[in-house]
Amino acid sequence: MTFDFSGKTVFVAGGTSGINLEIALAFAEAGARVAVLSRSQDKVDGAVAKLRAARAGAEAIGFAADVREQPAVEAALAKTKETFGAIDVLVSGAAGNFPAPAVGISPKGFRSVVEIDLLGTFHVLRSALPHLVQPGASVINISAPQAYIPMEMQMHVCAAKAGVDMVTRVAALEWGAFGVRVNSVSPGPIAETEGMNRLAPTEELRALVADSVPLKRFGTTRDIANCCLWLASPLASYVTGAVIPVDGGWALGGASVSVAGMKKALMG
Ligand code: NAP
Repeated sequence: MTFDFSGKTVFVAGGTSGINLEIALAFAEAGARVAVLSRSQDKVDGAVAKLRAARAGAEAIGFAADVREQPAVEAALAKTKETFGAIDVLVSGAAGNFPAPAVGISPKGFRSVVEIDLLGTFHVLRSALPHLVQPGASVINISAPQAYIPMEMQMHVCAAKAGVDMVTRVAALEWGAFGVRVNSVSPGPIAETEGMNRLAPTEELRALVADSVPLKRFGTTRDIANCCLWLASPLASYVTGAVIPVDGGWALGGASVSVAGMKKALMG
């Protein structure tokens, strides 16, 4: 199945690597003009080059900015609208993660994850509203199973992503009147990503994780991008306030086997 986003503007916060870059690329391949934002200028430059190569005539711009800095986020969104027109699809996926038991996380580390994932998502959504196509825009927050499954070694991420899903639901309630849909996509374990490499750094652990997924495999970054294409398309025009797992069924079993394995491997 192919989707057509010709003439549409897509903004992906955190869109310079991994899952979020794949989402940006999928929209670029489908005809959209794409803007990405992340902290590293090198990563922004690399992502913009890939996006411009995604198809003949592809247009892309990038911003080196931190989602914790609201004025910088606001400026990037305003520039995107000025350059490409109002934003049809907004993806908020900037995040940080590291495995650590609660007693091992410094207040600074906990605050950093909450500020990037949760406060950053608020900054992106709140700043974007005046720049969104109304009615018609689709907002997608990239969440995680940690939002609804308590996981050892992940208190900071569980707290932050649970907040992200509540931002999704409240924004869906408030912005439905503007014709703006807001949903969360919750990836399971996704192969060859920074997030998974940090949580399952060895082959042994990765085998354990794959075995704990009902579909018996890791997801691909394209699995997540495909869900975002559908969510942003007219096929999903009555879907808002949803948290959609794209996880091979991983959350059904509580992800307990793999989390226990991770804990053993990381802490002994
Ligand atoms: P990733 O490659 O590390 O992507 C994270 C992106 O966010 C990067 O582009 C990073 O670029 C950017 N970023 C981080 N902090 C930022 C900040 N303060 N301001 C602006 N941008 C920032 O990670 P990933 O594993 O693909 O994960 C992508 C998303 O999927 C995250 O929301 C994650 O929680 C979610 N997720 C991933 C998995 C998985 O299996 N990987 C599972 C569930 C959920 P810079 O370093 O340049 O800032």
